[in-house]
Amino acid sequence: MARIDDLRRRVQERLAEQRALVERLLALREQLPGSLFARFSECGKEGCVCQEGHKHGPYYVLSTRRAGKAAFAYLDERGAAAAKELVDAHREFREGLKELKKVNDELVGLMKEYQAAAAESAGRRVGVAAAV
Ligand SMILES: [Zn+2]
Repeated sequence: MARIDDLRRRVQERLAEQRALVERLLALREQLPGSLFARFSECGKEGCVCQEGHKHGPYYVLSTRRAGKAAFAYLDERGAAAAKELVDAHREFREGLKELKKVNDELVGLMKEYQAAAAESAGRRVGVAAAV
């Protein structure tokens, strides 16, 4: 029975991990798929400081996809700060989903082991070999 108890404990641990992960992802209520970058530019006016390396900017550009099409928006500093949070949240969610898949796969693996151990235990009780 020791093996079954150990598996049971490991399943419970994964379930707790899975639950915490899902709660964390559910808390990300706003997110934006895309990326944010700062752009600096030269204006081309003769004698402008940008010609000497002091480029204009930063201009914040938010790149998103809408219905499969790339879209760009220029944002001010405040908009950029808000957009960064949303873009980061989207990345966090995506990474969380990968982690969730890993935990779920581990759970299925453990449950299969559990089933094998349970069949072995039942087999011992009636005096037959486990057919797994
Ligand atoms: Zn300039």
